[in-house]
Amino acid sequence: MSKRVLVTGGAGFIGSHLCERLLAAGHDVLCLDNFFTGRRENVARLLDSRAFELRRHDVVEPILLEVDQIYNLACPASPVHYQYNPVKTVKTNVVGTLNMLGLAKRVGARILQASTSEVYGDPEVHPQDETYWGRVNPIGIRSCYDEGKRVAETLMTDYHRQNHVDIRIARIFNTYGPRMLESDGRVVSNFVVQALRGEELTLYGDGAQTRSFCYVDDLVEGLMRLMNRDGTDGADVHRPVNLGNPEEFSIRELAEEVARQCGREVKIRYCPLPEDDPRQRRPDITRARNLLGWSPTIPLRDGLARTISDFAARIENP
Ligand code: NAD
Ligand code: UDP
Ligand code: UDP
Repeated sequence: MSKRVLVTGGAGFIGSHLCERLLAAGHDVLCLDNFFTGRRENVARLLDSRAFELRRHDVVEPILLEVDQIYNLACPASPVHYQYNPVKTVKTNVVGTLNMLGLAKRVGARILQASTSEVYGDPEVHPQDETYWGRVNPIGIRSCYDEGKRVAETLMTDYHRQNHVDIRIARIFNTYGPRMLESDGRVVSNFVVQALRGEELTLYGDGAQTRSFCYVDDLVEGLMRLMNRDGTDGADVHRPVNLGNPEEFSIRELAEEVARQCGREVKIRYCPLPEDDPRQRRPDITRARNLLGWSPTIPLRDGLARTISDFAARIENP
C-alpha cells in the first residue's frame, strides 16, 4: 500500500538511493535536507515525479508534517564533514532526532533511525553483534558523531518505552557506491578518485586497520526491510539491527583492489592515522538474517567496479 514517507538527509548519498527505491515502490516521498553534504543534483531526476517533494529544512528546527513513516538519515557521515562543526553534529543527532521523534509521536508514524557501527567505537569484541555496548571515547574528535548517535539510540528507545513510538534502529556499517561526492573524504571515494587521477593513494597509518564495506543497494534493501518488518509475530523489532557486509578487508587490501580495478600501479602516500581510528570492524549480521531474511548480495569486487565507473564518468564529464 502506498504510504507517505519522510526521508531526512534524503539528498545525501544513502538518502538519495533510498528516495529512488521508495518512489519505485509506489510511495509518496518527502525529502528534507539542509544541503550540508547533500546535493540537489543527487535527486534531480526524481523531481519530475509528482510523488516526490524536496524541501530545504534543517532537522534541528521543529516541523509540522503528516506522514506514515520517517527514515531519519540527516547527519554528515564522513569524519572530515562531521568534524567541521562538531557542535552542529551533536545538535543534528540529538535535537534533530528529538524533533523527528516528537513528529512521529504526534502523527503516529513509524520511525527508523540511521545509527552506525561507530556506536561500537574501537571494539574489543570481534565481530560486533548488537549486544556489545561498545568502547567509545566521550571526548575525542569522533565523539560528536559517535556519542551523538548513541544518544539518538537512547532517545529512540525512551520514546518507545515512554510514548510507545514505533521505532526501528539500523546500525549501519561502512557503505559505499555511486553518487558519493568526490570531496566526501571517506576511504572508498578518496582511493577511487586518487587512482582515477593517477595520484598516490593516501593510506592512513600502516593500512592494517580493517573495515567491512557494504554496497549501497544492499544497504537500502536492508533499511526498507527493517522499516517494514512488523512485530505482530512477537519478534523484537525495536532493538538495534546491524546492517553491513561481513566481508572484512584491511585498508591496504582495499587500496590494492581499487588500484588494480583502475588499471594503475599501487602508489601509496603514507599519512598519520587519525586519533581514535577504530582498528577493526566487522558486523555480525545473524540478527538481520533471522529477523529480515537479509544479507548482502554484492561483493566488494563488483560493487567497486560499479562505483569506479560512476566516478570515472563524473571525473571525465564534470
Ligand atoms: P551524507 O553526508 O551523504 O548524507 C547526509 C545528508 O544529511 C546530507 O544530504 C546532508 O546535507 C543532510 N544533513 C546533514 N545535517 C542535516 C541537518 N541538520 N538537517 C537536514 N539535513 C541534514 O551521508 P550518508 O553516507 O548518506 O549517510 C546517511 C546516514 O547514514 C547518516 O545519518 C549517517 O550517519 C548514516 N550512516 C552512514 C554510513 C555510511 O557508511 N555511509 C555508515 C553508518 C551510518
Ligand atoms: N516536534 C516537531 N514536530 C511535531 C511534533 C513535535 O518538530 O510534529 C518537536 C517539538 O518541537 C519538540 C520535539 O519535537 O521540540 C519533541 O516533541 P515532544 O512532543 O515529544 O516533546 P515536548 O514538545 O513536549 O517537549
Ligand atoms: N582512510 C585512509 N585513507 C583515506 C581515508 C580513510 O587510509 O584517504 C582510512 C581511515 O583511517 C580508516 C578507514 O580508512 O581507518 C575508513 O575510513 P572512513 O573515513 O572511510 O570511515 P570510518 O573511519 O568512519 O569507518
